[in-house]
Amino acid sequence: MNAPLNISMPAEASQAPKAYKLLIDGKHVDARDGRVIERASPGHGFVVSRYAQAGAAEVEAAVQAAHRAFETGPWPRMKASERAAILLRTADLIETRLEEIARLDALESGKPIAQARGEIGGAVDIWRYAASLARTLHGESYANLGDTMLGVVVREPIGVVSLITPWNFPFLIISQKLPFALAAGCTAVVKPSEMTSASTFLLGDILLEAGLPAGVVNILAGFGADVGAPMVSHPLVEMVSFTGSTRVGKMTMAAASDSLKKVSMELGGKNGQIVFPDADLEAAADAAVFGGFFNAGECCNAGSRLIVHEAIADDFLAAVKALAAKVKVGDPLDDRTKVGAMISTDHMEKVAGYVSAAKTDGGNVFSGGARIASNAGQYLDPTIIRNVTEDMAIAREEVFGPVLSVLTFESIEKALHIANNTPYGLSAGVWSASIDTCMSVARHVRSGTVWVNTFMEGYPELPFGGYKQSGLGRELGKRAVEDYTEEKTIQFHRGQRTGWWVG
Ligand code: NAD
Repeated sequence: MNAPLNISMPAEASQAPKAYKLLIDGKHVDARDGRVIERASPGHGFVVSRYAQAGAAEVEAAVQAAHRAFETGPWPRMKASERAAILLRTADLIETRLEEIARLDALESGKPIAQARGEIGGAVDIWRYAASLARTLHGESYANLGDTMLGVVVREPIGVVSLITPWNFPFLIISQKLPFALAAGCTAVVKPSEMTSASTFLLGDILLEAGLPAGVVNILAGFGADVGAPMVSHPLVEMVSFTGSTRVGKMTMAAASDSLKKVSMELGGKNGQIVFPDADLEAAADAAVFGGFFNAGECCNAGSRLIVHEAIADDFLAAVKALAAKVKVGDPLDDRTKVGAMISTDHMEKVAGYVSAAKTDGGNVFSGGARIASNAGQYLDPTIIRNVTEDMAIAREEVFGPVLSVLTFESIEKALHIANNTPYGLSAGVWSASIDTCMSVARHVRSGTVWVNTFMEGYPELPFGGYKQSGLGRELGKRAVEDYTEEKTIQFHRGQRTGWWVG
């Protein structure tokens, strides 16, 4: 168990909270009714930000602004090279302000600052990649339809898009959506999580500084029911791209179906790492700890199920436990921290509830399992639970905390059965020196990403998304811009039309 934490207060604790206004039609505005949301740092407990809190009136104003910008503004009509130039300037400005953005995300989400820096650096790379796709987006032509016909398929921006994001990777996830929507020529209304909106507002400032025309991107802080729901149902919105829980994703899809909007869904996961005896067990043990405890387990891609061959289980788990004991939990602003604070006390209670239920169900808390006492903030011990069986809630549901469930297998068939025995299908990992074993797992696991002898790497070039109830559609990759387009078929007829219908 970790020793009590003594969290020191950063300079921000003695300053007034930073205030953020909504961004609508290029202007920073307060909510009409003057409401605000206060966000306290989960690692320290002081109020770090105050955002103007949007409601139905602000959603209407933001959608109308995005609609005007789409219908009459320059953005969808510009050359792709001009849009790409603005995306590239945005990337440069994010890079210049990387430390400031990383600190906001660490303060508001409780994630470690060193990790936050990595995420913002990753976001810079995505903005640059999206700029390259803006230049290469193209359609198709068919000159094989006879001498009098030329068929042309063009891709046009789909229109106004609503982008809704969660709290666990505030800046990174909006950067998996917005640059691609902008590259296509769309306009957007963006709603970050009500707990972590600051870095998205900062992105809004950066976009204006980079030369984005007013109204192209509108940013609203607010709650799901007041702001997210009308952003989904609004008749002028053509597409909804949502990242969040499977529960809210299903509600969002149902709401979007009324006006038959296109939807893209990045939802929860219950991902397994399968470890075979012939693997590089030292590397696999490190990846097990990384997969389980990265971002305090508050990660859709968390490797929350460790599926280990029975022959090596005891020795391997002893190595995993020894590594887990070395994971530095504590102040998100300390450069050495690997696991920061839990996002909220409510969420921490929920995670602790899963650990208690696992004990009742017959699980054995092999390591951790407790809250860590601290003078400020909320922290959980990285926890490993053995004797987990496939029917237990801890093996099936997304816990979203630093909790690793261990299941064992004796054959590859059983390992695959365990890996696939969940309603989710986001990602999986396999560890083995045998190409046959790795390929069998990679081909038969039902998930959107499979890591072979590595875990949780990501590249803008590679599509990301889920099978089953982990989502619908893919983000990133070379087709990411196409997602934000409609296809239009144009048929050019040359000369006198023959074969008249009536005469
Ligand atoms: P959440 O579903 O509670 O909220 C996500 C967003 O939806 C927030 O902005 C929220 O305000 C908004 N929202 C809530 N109710 C809404 C409604 N009725 N209509 C429209 N919007 C609404 O999720 P969370 O707790 O913020 O994030 C954690 C979840 O996100 C986890 O399940 C995690 O797996 C998932 N996630 C998935 C990915 C992925 O890429 N697959 C990435 C990160 C997080």
